[in-house]
Amino acid sequence: MTDRVKRKLEVRPAGDAGPGDAVDPFAAFRDVEILDMQLAFAFRHSLGKLSRFFLALEQRVLLGTACPVCGAVWLPPRVVCPDDLAVTDWVELGGRGRLAVGSLSAYTLKTAGGERQLMLGYVEVEGATSLLLQQIRNADADALVPGLELKIVWSDRPVDHPMELFWFEPA
Ligand SMILES: [Zn+2]
Repeated sequence: MTDRVKRKLEVRPAGDAGPGDAVDPFAAFRDVEILDMQLAFAFRHSLGKLSRFFLALEQRVLLGTACPVCGAVWLPPRVVCPDDLAVTDWVELGGRGRLAVGSLSAYTLKTAGGERQLMLGYVEVEGATSLLLQQIRNADADALVPGLELKIVWSDRPVDHPMELFWFEPA
C-alpha cells in the first residue's frame, strides 16, 4: 500500500463478470480503491414564520396554532390551516398528553444527542387537534402503549436544536 494517499485503505478487484458474459465490457474498470472518509455537513437554517414556536420553547412554553374558522389546534404549529387556508393564531398549550403510538428507533441523528436508541411517539397533547412527534424518555419500551399518560419535561442543559429542549415522560 502506498502512503501517497493517507486515507487509502486498500485497492481490490471487483468480482469478475458473471459466467454468462463472454466479454466483460468493464474489465478495465475493476480495480476498486477504498478510502476512509468522513463527511460533515453544516446547515444554516431559518425557522421562518414558525420561529415563535421555537423561541417559546426556550421560555418553556409550548405553542400551537388555532384556526379561526374550524377551531383546529395544530401542533406542530401551522401558519395556515390546511383545511380552511386561514391564517392561524398562536395558542399556549399545557404539557400533558397521551401516547397515540410509540416506537423504539435504532436510527438517530446527531441532533438527537447521538443516543444509540431513541423512543419516539406521536403524542396527543391536551388542547391540540393534531399529533406531535417527539421523544419519549425514561419509559420502558414495553410501556409504549396507546393511551399512556405523558407529561412534558424541559431540558436543563443547552441543546443543539430547539426541539431537544423538551420531551415527554410517563406522567
Ligand atoms: Zn381550519
